[in-house]
Amino acid sequence: MGTENFGDGEFWGRRILGTEISLSPLTVLIFSDIYITMENLKRYNRLTEYLKEKFGERVLKICIDGGFTCPNRDGTTGFGGCIFCSETGSGDHMIHNKDISNQIKNYFLSYKSSRANKFIAYFQNFTNTYDSIENLKRKYDSALIDDRIVALAIATRPDCINEDIVKLLHSYTSKYYVWVELGLQTSNDETGRLINRGYSSKQFTKAVALLNKYNIDVVTHIMVGLPGESESDLKNTVSFINSHNIQGIKIHSTYVIKNTILAQMYYNELYKPLTLDEYLNSVVYILTHIPKNIIIHRISGDAPKNLLIAPDWNSHKKLILNGVDKIMKENNLWQGCHISNF
Ligand code: SF4
Repeated sequence: MGTENFGDGEFWGRRILGTEISLSPLTVLIFSDIYITMENLKRYNRLTEYLKEKFGERVLKICIDGGFTCPNRDGTTGFGGCIFCSETGSGDHMIHNKDISNQIKNYFLSYKSSRANKFIAYFQNFTNTYDSIENLKRKYDSALIDDRIVALAIATRPDCINEDIVKLLHSYTSKYYVWVELGLQTSNDETGRLINRGYSSKQFTKAVALLNKYNIDVVTHIMVGLPGESESDLKNTVSFINSHNIQGIKIHSTYVIKNTILAQMYYNELYKPLTLDEYLNSVVYILTHIPKNIIIHRISGDAPKNLLIAPDWNSHKKLILNGVDKIMKENNLWQGCHISNF
């Protein structure tokens, strides 16, 4: 029996021998290492399903290299960047081509564009609001050149958000669904200093308030397993997030990749990655302690295999997805089930 994933890496259905099947609520499919049920699919709000509901069909991301840098690398707030960040500013999966419109055109010429009819222009690596307003507008406009693009997603840092930038982003909301991804990683500013993050949790709060003011959706990045962090840090970070009006969350595992300060720490035995079980339990803690309306954009880090040093399990995304589903199903857990105020 042949199987093939639907979805952009995160499964939400299966195809068997090329034939789509519909799953009844009680259907259980057992494969060599994967089992899924309709129940599992609803235990937390996945981005793929949210977008499908919002746009009536599957929507895919086009990852764009906007040619940005980061204030944490060019000396404005620091040098060297966050200790886990690669030389590409966490954009290791991307094809780097300076001309933004060409990146879009090339995407639509490739086989990838045949997998959907609607797309998100996603400015992913480095700090995608770190430029003059004129340059930002020019860069965003250069990406929005095809009618099939229905959304604009911008990844950035809280200290690179101001009202003029938010106004610019807001100007796109009449035509596009716009969201901003804000790094937080942890609410513990001590850890923030240790990882050389270069901004405070207060700056995160300020940036979220500005984006809320203009009704722009906020997706927060958090990292599990940062150096020196304990279970109580994770709990504090979740409480901190819950005190903000955010619409989405990206949960990343902390992984060690080549040519980073974290790699030096790892080799000097100053950093020990979490085990898979520790990570799965942490993700389940987060999912069960955040409001059920928050959209879960991801629950794993996406380390490039050729750069990954540790942990090994990080390159097996399905182990993470299926592991979380399994724990939630076995314990009858749901997103937000451990908070009572909604
Ligand atoms: S803020 Fe982002 S791009 Fe800048 S150094 Fe940190 S992880 Fe890298």
